[in-house]
Amino acid sequence: MTLPIDFPHITRAHLLSLLRAAPKAELHIHIEGSLEPELIFELARRNGIVLPYANVEALRAAYAFTDLQSFLDVYYAGASVLITEADFDAMAWAYFERAARDNVVHCEIFFDPQTHTARGIDMGVVIRGLDRAAKRAEAELGLSVRLILCFLRHLSEDDALATLEAALPYRDKFIGVGLDSSERGHPPEKFERVFARAREQGLHLVAHAGEEGPPAYIWSALDTLRVERIDHGVRCVEDPELVARLARERVPLTVCPLSNVKLCVFDDLGKHNLPALLAAGLRVTINSDDPAYFGGYLNDNFVQLFESLPQLTAHDAYTMLRNSFEGSFVDDEDKALWVEELDSVFAAGEP
Ligand SMILES: [Zn+2]
Repeated sequence: MTLPIDFPHITRAHLLSLLRAAPKAELHIHIEGSLEPELIFELARRNGIVLPYANVEALRAAYAFTDLQSFLDVYYAGASVLITEADFDAMAWAYFERAARDNVVHCEIFFDPQTHTARGIDMGVVIRGLDRAAKRAEAELGLSVRLILCFLRHLSEDDALATLEAALPYRDKFIGVGLDSSERGHPPEKFERVFARAREQGLHLVAHAGEEGPPAYIWSALDTLRVERIDHGVRCVEDPELVARLARERVPLTVCPLSNVKLCVFDDLGKHNLPALLAAGLRVTINSDDPAYFGGYLNDNFVQLFESLPQLTAHDAYTMLRNSFEGSFVDDEDKALWVEELDSVFAAGEP
């Protein structure tokens, strides 16, 4: 039995330590976006691949993005070093170790098979490598892991359909499908058939919408693709009717603050619309998106956000952490256990 949480008396300094210490789930992380420059160069050496960057510093210097596309160009270059099952294992393991240090207890990681199959890498190599790291993370770090296969929306729906079919032999190793990559000009409805096919397979459905794309993309992700979560979704505020619906249906939004600033969706964290999303009663979660590229993992996102937005309260922090569990795709018993742990961290009082 957990003590009641005394939100008004949690000091700012204590709140920042609670944000770090609290158990949390991450629901929007592209595993290829967790590849740090050092590992990119190590894998390139291992696989005899010559990168278009002289060294780690030159690669890091290329991380000055102006929009989503400028990031994707560097991101695909980084992913080109992944060749063997062991490479995918090493990439995912590095993220899991890092996430565990941030007290992430559950993560639902996106992977982009088309980025690899287009280079001649077999689907089985990708999924088996990630699955191997996930099993080890569960055993050695106590981290709960699920995989979500994402389709690249700048490619055709036929390509997505072929990708899903190629992945179905590994159906037991992933729980859902998503939609990522260049949003503008590629509305969700372009992928209606492949999402219907995934739904037939009992897969969970999510999609990026309303990051750079308009609110109409969020509507069609909900109505045409029938997704259960919206990734990003920050542009929903431009459409009051949409905001009302997202609030009424309790649709989780996986918001990624540092990513939004790095990709110029907002000028700085102090201008992020997260307080407005919370005030509208939306089910917001905080996530790192592509942490190696956007300057921070999950705790960095939480702490920098709360440092930049003094109007955010301890209750807001608790709400978003709780949302991360309640918006996840695990069963209700696991959600309840994690929420209980979260409650006890918040109720413990200042040391
Ligand atoms: Zn994303």
